[in-house]
Amino acid sequence: MAEKYKALIGGEWVEAAGGETTTVINPANGQVIATVPKCGIEEVNAAVSAAAAAFPEWAAKPVGERSKLLLKLSQLIMANQESIAKLETMEHGSPIRKTMNFDVPLCAEQLEYFAGVARGVTGETLPVGPWCMSMTVRQPLGVIGLITPWNFPALMLIWKLGAALVMGNTCIVKPPSIAPLTALKLGELAMEAGIPKGVVNVITGPGGTVGEALVEHPGVAKIGFTGDTATGKRIMKVASDTVKQLGLELGGKNAFIVLEDADVDSAVEGAVFGAYFNSGQVCAAASRFYVHESLYDEFAEKFVAASKTLKMGDPTDFATVLGPVAYKAHRDKIDTFVEKAKKSSAKLLLGGERPADPALKDGYFVSPTIFGDCTNDMDLMRHEIFGPVVGLCRFKTPDEAIALANDTPYGLSASIWTKDTRAGLVMASQINAGTVWINEHLIIFCETPWGGCKESGWGKDLSTMVLDEYTMTKHIYVDLTGQPAKPWYAILK
Ligand code: NAD
Repeated sequence: MAEKYKALIGGEWVEAAGGETTTVINPANGQVIATVPKCGIEEVNAAVSAAAAAFPEWAAKPVGERSKLLLKLSQLIMANQESIAKLETMEHGSPIRKTMNFDVPLCAEQLEYFAGVARGVTGETLPVGPWCMSMTVRQPLGVIGLITPWNFPALMLIWKLGAALVMGNTCIVKPPSIAPLTALKLGELAMEAGIPKGVVNVITGPGGTVGEALVEHPGVAKIGFTGDTATGKRIMKVASDTVKQLGLELGGKNAFIVLEDADVDSAVEGAVFGAYFNSGQVCAAASRFYVHESLYDEFAEKFVAASKTLKMGDPTDFATVLGPVAYKAHRDKIDTFVEKAKKSSAKLLLGGERPADPALKDGYFVSPTIFGDCTNDMDLMRHEIFGPVVGLCRFKTPDEAIALANDTPYGLSASIWTKDTRAGLVMASQINAGTVWINEHLIIFCETPWGGCKESGWGKDLSTMVLDEYTMTKHIYVDLTGQPAKPWYAILK
């Protein structure tokens, strides 16, 4: 029996005005697990009013008080670790070993980090002259719309929500339509933590209506968006009418460069993690592999062998490493890329067909798939597939590898594998991406900034830099001369 969820507006749990709902489907078996309100413009307006009403009091609280409430939320998240992890596994298909051990603890840690660093945020006094005092102060922006993707339903939300809240903003969360349940649970825990009514609102429904109405709304000061590049472009257009501030964490097509001197075994370990974590549904997933020609055959053989060892199956089983992808249309889209690549000159080295296990037939599973002998003009190498499907390409010189890595509209991340740190650093400086790892792929910390360039978006999540995203710097000037007429007035006299 599907559980019925409600949206959270102004501290109340509400249905959509028309009573309409949408279903949430477990991608491991295609079963409906819940319904959520199909909110519309009425709920958007109500949520903006609630968040605007809550803003003055929340913004006026000392940062220390907001920090303590974030810490309380962090503790509640850990107290509910298992239930949040199970919810995310059910709605998204991500294996329980990952949601329990990675997503939920990282959400809690992220809030701890924000609670700490926000207390160190200061303005400056500026050395402009003895006749005045000039200073900057940091102020919250107001009502923030947070529009989040399905690939890490809890984490992508907490990255933004924690920063926005601790800096004194109130928020309206628009979670992904296909995986909205963890966001609703986090909304419930925010209330339990004592965060006042209206400070966190969660409205569910289709991005094209609810999300877009939030972007259009003149009462929303900023949209923090993580999602597809095409959606980001649409949001930019819609936001232009109100000159709304935007933070855009968009798609990626990330290069994994194996230099001539790399340790192949380490690179293969990193490749498996980089390509298949979360079934490849990671904005920073390694998907374009550029391998020096002298190592290519060895790397390809070992990568294929290692990819065969991953256990795919029921994501609620702790032994499972690869769950399904998040929804049927996404699986079908991945299949289309694979079928097209099979007809190209790329050589299928692994996968390329649905898993044979009959236990998986009702779920949206995609086998790890590796194509060799790829070229950069192939769709496989140009488009974000967002699944466990990768392409391998040979290169001869480091300059060729840099050119291949940069030959993409995206600019989110890349990795370089080498024993020569100096060569790695020199190459890193020439790669157009927001993050470049050397001998690693995918690792992130609360302390390190995250965000891309080019069509991967702009702005930063994580690190202290995200606090800038949710504040405005105001300059205040105080005249200290006490003189009615200043020397510079003479210019008009
Ligand atoms: P998506 O763009 O389809 O949806 C993201 C959110 O936007 C959802 O909540 C959706 O309902 C909403 N939305 C859809 N259309 C909208 C519109 N017209 N106006 C306002 N909101 C709208 O993305 P997705 O499929 O949920 O997520 C996968 C994408 O997210 C991938 O491209 C991935 O690379 C990207 N991503 C990027 C990062 C990063 O840090 N750069 C992190 C995670 C995911």
